[in-house]
Amino acid sequence: MTNTQQTVNPATGEVIQTYTQMGEDEVNRIIEQAHEAFLSWRGAPLTERGDILRQVGKLIRERKNELAALMTEEMGKPLREGVQECQLCAAICDYSADQGPQVLADEEREMQGGRALITYQPQGVIYGIQPWNFPLYQVIRYSIANLMAGNTVLLKHASNVWGMAVEVEKLFRDAGLPENAFRTLFIGHDVSDSVIAHPLVRGVTLTGSPKAGRTVGQKAGKALKKSVLELGSNDAYIVLADADLEKAVKACLMGRFTNGGQTCVAAKRFIVEEAVYDQFRDAYVAEARKIKYGDPTQDETQMGPMARQDLRDDLHDQVRQSIENGAVCLLGGEIPEGRGAYYPPTVLENVVPGQPAYDDELFGPVAALIKVRNEAEAMRVANDSVYGLGGGIFTKDVDKGIRLARDHFDTGMVNINGYRLAQTNLPFGGVKDSGYGREHGGFGMLEFVNVKSVMIV
Ligand code: NDP
Repeated sequence: MTNTQQTVNPATGEVIQTYTQMGEDEVNRIIEQAHEAFLSWRGAPLTERGDILRQVGKLIRERKNELAALMTEEMGKPLREGVQECQLCAAICDYSADQGPQVLADEEREMQGGRALITYQPQGVIYGIQPWNFPLYQVIRYSIANLMAGNTVLLKHASNVWGMAVEVEKLFRDAGLPENAFRTLFIGHDVSDSVIAHPLVRGVTLTGSPKAGRTVGQKAGKALKKSVLELGSNDAYIVLADADLEKAVKACLMGRFTNGGQTCVAAKRFIVEEAVYDQFRDAYVAEARKIKYGDPTQDETQMGPMARQDLRDDLHDQVRQSIENGAVCLLGGEIPEGRGAYYPPTVLENVVPGQPAYDDELFGPVAALIKVRNEAEAMRVANDSVYGLGGGIFTKDVDKGIRLARDHFDTGMVNINGYRLAQTNLPFGGVKDSGYGREHGGFGMLEFVNVKSVMIV
């Protein structure tokens, strides 16, 4: 029996393309080819690897409009945001090419009776399982780091963005990457498990839901292979009484509604000191009401549909359950009439434990407002989550902000007085149920290398 997979435009519900899934024999052949490619790629000088990755970045810049249009078609991102995603991807290529030779350089150390070298050796084929929310960026993030380190790379992309999987493979080929050093696998979960178990696959990295993370982490553990997991979160943004409220409202809007709220490190819970709560809430709702949502192909659109109908329906269930358990809906909260996986900008208040808006991740355009008495309560509520990816603090006392961020926030990243997504030169990753391991900032290049000590007596 041949298994097929269709991609669907979330704005219209129309089928875009039908793909045939690969069987196990074909997948095993590709793994072997990727391993063969590794045996020569590992010997390529770092500068040569960097030159090819720089060329990938150049092609992304050249093709940004086409790539953005594909993102819009497959997962509903407004065109403008797709172009920005391409620019970030090109910057990642340049950063890795520039910094890779230093990050991966041998390091000399003294030792008793001799000297030693620490070297960073690639390990082989690395398998990436990636999501649809940033369909180019998520792939570029792990593959560029691993290719720079001398590994070769397999991709299993989310099944709703397989057109992008085809385009990424083409980018690498056109940039001159040796054949089979990057390959896409068009497979479902059943075959994915055997990829993780395959002896020539040396590590697995997943970005996605905690549910998928648990499964993939278990399979990797069983095969004694390293995994990197970048999972969801319910990031808290604290607004203290001394904050610049205008700045806070602007950043909290961007943090929540960019990419239709479908971002692991989006701002999701807004924890506001009671002295400024009403002022913050009223301004936030007024600004959220102005967001132009609709057809993602139109220039003026700020928010398109969600990526899939089932994700939209699940989000609406979470909103309804939150309201049934005491949350108050200040804006949105209704599925609009007509076709497409649309959901409006939505704001909830009176968000408390026992509601999905407090306990779980809401992966869509829904903001949760929480009023607290003081700074200590704000910090307690912020950390009252199974997740720990990012977070934020707004205060005019920057030293206090740094102290809270560094010593008290149980997350991998904290913004002070703003909202920033991933930075090429800073580590990205979380703690607790948000996963483990780091990408970017040179750290991603070191996740799947053999850190080898060579002792010279
Ligand atoms: P999933 O976690 O199910 O999908 C992400 C990737 O993992 C896809 O490639 C998917 O493949 C794959 N996958 C899922 N289950 C398994 C498995 N058991 N073994 C191997 N691979 C697996 O995310 P969804 O698309 O269903 O989105 C649901 C939720 O996930 C969101 O609401 C959000 O909470 C979270 N999420 C988080 C992201 C992040 O950036 N951290 C990104 C996307 C989603 P396939 O498409 O074939 O199912």
